[in-house]
Amino acid sequence: MDITGTASFCVQVDVPSPDNYIPLCQEYIHQTVLQQIDREQFLGICVVVPAMIDPDKREIFATTLNLPEKDFVGQLQRAFSGFPVALLNDTACFAYAEKVYTQITEKDFAFINFGKGIGATLFIRNEMLGRASASYTQFGHYSIDPKGELCSCGNRGCLELMIGEASLKGRISKAGGSPAFRRPSAVTYGDLGQASVYGDMVSCKVVRDIADEFSMALCNLICMVHPKLIIIGGKGKDLGPLFIQEIQECLRTVGFRRMVNSVSVRYSLLDSSALYNGAMKYFFDIHYNFTQDMAGSFFIG
Ligand SMILES: [Zn+2]
Repeated sequence: MDITGTASFCVQVDVPSPDNYIPLCQEYIHQTVLQQIDREQFLGICVVVPAMIDPDKREIFATTLNLPEKDFVGQLQRAFSGFPVALLNDTACFAYAEKVYTQITEKDFAFINFGKGIGATLFIRNEMLGRASASYTQFGHYSIDPKGELCSCGNRGCLELMIGEASLKGRISKAGGSPAFRRPSAVTYGDLGQASVYGDMVSCKVVRDIADEFSMALCNLICMVHPKLIIIGGKGKDLGPLFIQEIQECLRTVGFRRMVNSVSVRYSLLDSSALYNGAMKYFFDIHYNFTQDMAGSFFIG
């Protein structure tokens, strides 16, 4: 990503095993990027992960990602010791992009990212809570059913287990099945959102049910930190107009009235590559210093 926010290089690489991740990144930087631009033009590396990053223990914890288990943070730092490096959480980068590029004026807002899991980043009085590490909030592991299914985090009935994309197929068949989903492939939020736009009854029901359960979690979040704006990003946007309508409806009838009444909800205005712009902007705004030699500096969150 260049400093104006344009992607200069873009590649997607399959990682055969967790231990290949860092060597493949090194190879890409040295064999591709640094062959085409000067070392002086290469200002830093942001490693953005859908994981919880613990800055004190220097560990990451991911339930949806396969990375080296032992000392990932240390390995990363050693592998790129000649460069400034920042290890950042993906939802935080999305949230930062939304704040900067859509010019959010609310000092208190929440950004909720629907990806493989569900993550949230909170801004309180204009500050990102816990920096870009996701170590303060695990919204996806907020339980909405204490007797629900066991989650990989050890808790039961977690939001991301109950309303995550992997739950959709089961929900549709539980709601009576739908001709829109006869094929055996997995059901995405996009498939469900589309079917609901075309009026498929079961899809509409499932979208509403998901919105109701999600709203329950939102109401509790609102009681904890009172964000004035809630932005739904990532794949959540694909759930379409019915999802956001139902959430807005739900927030009018549940939760602590006085607090909930002053909260608005909208979809993200940015696309799925916004996290790279967000990471770049965050790196320069928060960590980078143009008047210092930054080589070898390593930032977590
Ligand atoms: Zn969980």
